[in-house]
Amino acid sequence: MKLKDVFISLSENQFLNQAAQKYGLKMGASSVVAGTTIEEAIEGIRELNRRGISCTVDCLGEFVSDKAEATKAKDQIIHVIEAIHDTEVDAHISLKPSQLGLDIDYAFCLENLKEIAETASRYEMFINIDMENYERLEPSFRLLEELTQNYPNIGTVIQAYFYRAQSDIERLKDYRLRIVKGAYKETNDVAYQDKMDIDDNFLRLIEYHLQNGKFTSIATHDHQIIEHVKRFVEANHIPKDKFEFQMLYGFRTELQYQLAKEGYQFCTYVPFGTDWYGYFMRRLAERPQNISLVTKQVFNK
Ligand code: FAD
Repeated sequence: MKLKDVFISLSENQFLNQAAQKYGLKMGASSVVAGTTIEEAIEGIRELNRRGISCTVDCLGEFVSDKAEATKAKDQIIHVIEAIHDTEVDAHISLKPSQLGLDIDYAFCLENLKEIAETASRYEMFINIDMENYERLEPSFRLLEELTQNYPNIGTVIQAYFYRAQSDIERLKDYRLRIVKGAYKETNDVAYQDKMDIDDNFLRLIEYHLQNGKFTSIATHDHQIIEHVKRFVEANHIPKDKFEFQMLYGFRTELQYQLAKEGYQFCTYVPFGTDWYGYFMRRLAERPQNISLVTKQVFNK
């Protein structure tokens, strides 16, 4: 088994997830998770805002298995929207349909999302529907399409490792889209496995949406992709207000600051909450060098 697969399996381990919640941000997670409370996260957001960076906030939550947990997650997200509004920070929301009950009952999940969208629309706040694994892809697109009949300020994510990504981006070209490589373990029935194929498709999708779509969020830590995009927008006269770069909180922070300084719109994805374990394991799966976050923490004690 590859190291990547080991971390993905660990991210799916509900027992370890529950154990981790009891002990606060451990194993180096504090450098990539902006605290366990919204107050702590707001502090991190203020610091980024001071540098001209906007934020998208993720209330971490995984393994939602009953309606009460999903309702709690919905209430928490609404609380975060209110906190963003009240503190006047430059931020919006990212959320995961599974957190709001997608695996339990589609209609129930849609109702939760409607309540969230109703609150966000009051403050003209954008909501991004994060994309999870393949089974949840089509239902998540359906949620988006149903919700935006009444709440247009919602977008989603296209994952470049899927073969179907090009037809999805054409279907969703009128939406604000975040384009990523893809973080979950998928089989070769549905997804490219080779890094070069994924990177090629990633660039094709970014170029397509920059030229044909609404707003494009290019979410990557890959400096080669970023350099390519800079050249592409310049050559094709794509204005800077049509796209932004995004990275995760705590990753390549200097590059984040530099891109903002160069005048590009930049948005940092800021996760917070006690339910940090699955998120942290997926980051280790993506880049085993991130293990240095763990070892640094262990040796700095
Ligand atoms: P990689 O392919 O991991 O790395 C490419 C190269 O970039 C590396 O070889 C290295 O040279 C350089 N590099 C990368 N990271 C670092 C680093 N930390 N330090 C120094 N050099 C580095 N996935 C989903 O499936 N659904 C989502 O909704 C989703 N949302 C996301 C939102 C944001 C803002 C971001 C940034 C990612 C999101 N992802 C999501 C994760 C994404 O799919 C990838 O798994 C993740 O971003 C890793 O791919 P990458 O493009 O950053 O670069």
